[in-house]
Amino acid sequence: MEPTKKPFVVDVAIAGGGIIGLSLGLELRQRGLSVAVMERGQAMSSASWAAGGMLAVNDPQNPPELLPLSVRSWALYPAYLDRIEALSGRHVPLRTRWTLQHLESERESDGVLTEAEIVEYAPGLDATGHSFKLLEEGSLDPNDLREALPAAFRAAEGTLLEGTAVLGVESTAHGVLVETQRERIAAGMFVNCCGAWAGGPRLGGLPVVPVKGQMANLRCQPERLRCVVRVPGIYLIPRGDGRVTIGATLEHAGFDETVQEPSIRQLIEAALRLLPEATTPSQMESWAGLRPGTSDGLPILGTSKTKHCWHATGHYRDGILLAPVTARVMAQAMLGESPDVPLEAFTPARF
Ligand SMILES: Cc1cc2nc3c(=O)[nH]c(=O)nc-3n(C[C@H](O)[C@H](O)[C@H](O)COP(=O)(O)OP(=O)(O)OC[C@H]3O[C@@H](n4cnc5c(N)ncnc54)[C@H](O)[C@@H]3O)c2cc1C
Repeated sequence: MEPTKKPFVVDVAIAGGGIIGLSLGLELRQRGLSVAVMERGQAMSSASWAAGGMLAVNDPQNPPELLPLSVRSWALYPAYLDRIEALSGRHVPLRTRWTLQHLESERESDGVLTEAEIVEYAPGLDATGHSFKLLEEGSLDPNDLREALPAAFRAAEGTLLEGTAVLGVESTAHGVLVETQRERIAAGMFVNCCGAWAGGPRLGGLPVVPVKGQMANLRCQPERLRCVVRVPGIYLIPRGDGRVTIGATLEHAGFDETVQEPSIRQLIEAALRLLPEATTPSQMESWAGLRPGTSDGLPILGTSKTKHCWHATGHYRDGILLAPVTARVMAQAMLGESPDVPLEAFTPARF
């Protein structure tokens, strides 16, 4: 009989190699803990790759309770990207720094942009029927992070185990034993960062639901659109190289990640009404991803019912924006420090 293989031992085991799991892993490495991130597929290949990449701090669709986390995360972003670049050698630029936000109500007269001001940021835009205000918000291309973040985590001597699904977790006297499809991992703490899949019964049965989003790329001269544009039902995100990413549908379709041509056609029609000179590339670029949704639209950050286990998930439409602050406040809470932002509103116990 073969002797039972000894488990791999780390301070913290993280399930899910998306932006949340890897950013938290990086933060914990910075604080000197040994970390293993277990990703069942390829890191940064689910929602964190499919996202638009807007750092939409002041999106009026965000729940008001999210604002303190969003503001803190936007403030942490420059240092977060610098650190990723220093470790990985890959630059992740902010590709826009401004957003034209459609004004929802006629009463919002403060800061309404004039036609001349709109032309300054977006000469190609047909603003008919819209009033806009200008927001100082960035955006990045998740494709840039897809390469850089796993490389940064590895360069920080984090262990990234791809092709390694977490099958179950049990708490022990001093920590946890994590069962994966490849090996067992013994850790002091476990964190569930499985995004839209975080609700699995083996991970603590959280009420996280997948909310599908379909997106596509159009083309437009970069100088004709120099900022993000958000109006009801559609947003345009120029990448600075002629690509304009348009999105996104919001669909409750289970774990289906297929692209449907009629949905993409509707998005393109809406985008062309705003940016009539945009063109569709000869090879259509469209994709879909699953946001980790929660019933109150807020993330789930805190301890699980299982001893030594934590959750950091449910970031819905804002996981790219909220990655730096999530990494920071989770690391603080896990190490017994007082978090930069109070976490009561985000506790898993609210469900
Ligand atoms: C179309 C679309 C547009 C978006 N636009 C924006 C935007 O503009 N700005 C913004 O801030 N946010 C945006 N989001 C939201 C953002 O993408 C998510 O909130 C964020 O990516 C969530 O990150 P995550 O790491 O929790 O999840 P994910 O990136 O989905 O990562 C979770 C990982 O866990 C892995 N996993 C699952 N189960 C297991 C298991 N049992 N064992 C091991 N690994 C497992 C999965 O394979 C996956 O890689 C958008 C999302 C979509 C879909």
